[in-house]
Amino acid sequence: MSRERGAGGAAVSAELSSAERDRILAKSALFAPPPAMLADGRRDLVGLSREELAAEMVAIGEKPFRAKQLWHWIYHQGVTDFARMPSIAKPMQAKLAERFVVGRPGVTTEQTSTDGTRKWLFRWRDGQEVETVYIPSPDEDRGAVCISTQVGCTLSCRFCHTGTQKLVRNLGAAEIVGQFMAARDSYGEWPSPKDGTARHLSNIVVMGMGEPLYNYENTAKALRIVMDHEGIALSRRRITLSTSGVVPMMDRCGAELNVNLAVSLHAVTNELRNEIVPLNRKYPIEELMAACHRYPGASNARRITFEYVMLRGVNDSPAEARELVRLLRGLPAKVNLIPFNPWPGSPYKTSTPEAVRAFAAIVEEAGYSSPVRRPRGRDILAACGQLKTESERARKADAA
Ligand code: SAH
Ligand code: SF4
Repeated sequence: MSRERGAGGAAVSAELSSAERDRILAKSALFAPPPAMLADGRRDLVGLSREELAAEMVAIGEKPFRAKQLWHWIYHQGVTDFARMPSIAKPMQAKLAERFVVGRPGVTTEQTSTDGTRKWLFRWRDGQEVETVYIPSPDEDRGAVCISTQVGCTLSCRFCHTGTQKLVRNLGAAEIVGQFMAARDSYGEWPSPKDGTARHLSNIVVMGMGEPLYNYENTAKALRIVMDHEGIALSRRRITLSTSGVVPMMDRCGAELNVNLAVSLHAVTNELRNEIVPLNRKYPIEELMAACHRYPGASNARRITFEYVMLRGVNDSPAEARELVRLLRGLPAKVNLIPFNPWPGSPYKTSTPEAVRAFAAIVEEAGYSSPVRRPRGRDILAACGQLKTESERARKADAA
């Protein structure tokens, strides 16, 4: 993509990027989810904004304040049955139940690993499925729910199994927030714990299947619901969105959501990144790093996470570690080194532990924290970012 630089260049670039944003949003609309509605015509109230919920109430001749009551029952108390909402009079409960549901995904499977990792395969009304994983912190009573935003992915990062599956469709806001709500059901964490109360499901990482910034509207809507103070009330500091580098949407994400940002870097030269993260051909490393510098609130207390999948002999040399440090200069950052999780037919091997250690030492030496993400839930194949594939394979094998 050509960019005019120099005098007046900034304006041209801004125009280009707003045109680019419109193009991305238009493309995303082609993969819209089906309406959040049951076959009998009842509408799912989960996933509606407060304004939309109020409009639904007005449409059935009710006062808009009903929306506030419902919001409390749905997102604070986690109640799915109108009959269990005592502040709403019985006749009104019946009226709501005729027209609406408070939905949850179907659960195809739920497995818990010996290390406490729990994985669900959730099923939507059209039969599509995604995986969600809860990863507890090793020594604390809290942890992160890793949620998906798309069925499949349009991008085709070479090391990622999701990247070998075509994009089927975007998930709707109801489906994105629904993954977290169903995880809470599973842990009995309703009503929403008050500040200071320990909660298992303390964080959200948007790192499951799909590219969240290619399904921005639905992801943003879901995260706004999650962050609403009168509902689930998770602070933006407890939410991390991972992107492979959709530069034109990163600014919008920062301005509108300002959740923590994770960037899937994986390579320090454009030549290699073009190959393993093909989106780099559109938005090269320099533009990606510039977008990171522009991301609001990047400070030492709130650093940008750079994810780096360690591929043996491909991107794991000491020279590359030094180049990574150079790229990060001046940016409040931490590095997540992820041992590559191989899948049948994958063209790469996991870096040796020695290579990972040497790489991490160089990055740490430069003052950046660079934890090696320990593989969790190995026994249930719950690698965040590499989801669903195993269950799909198993099913195909069954069918064969
Ligand atoms: N599309 C977004 C978010 C989902 S992928 C993104 O790319 O950031 C989440 C993370 O899982 C990414 O950092 C991705 O690089 C990583 N990942 C994908 N496949 C992997 C594999 N086989 N082994 C280890 N990490 C993988
Ligand atoms: Fe898509 Fe992320 Fe996998 Fe790349 S790493 S193919 S962007 S899910």
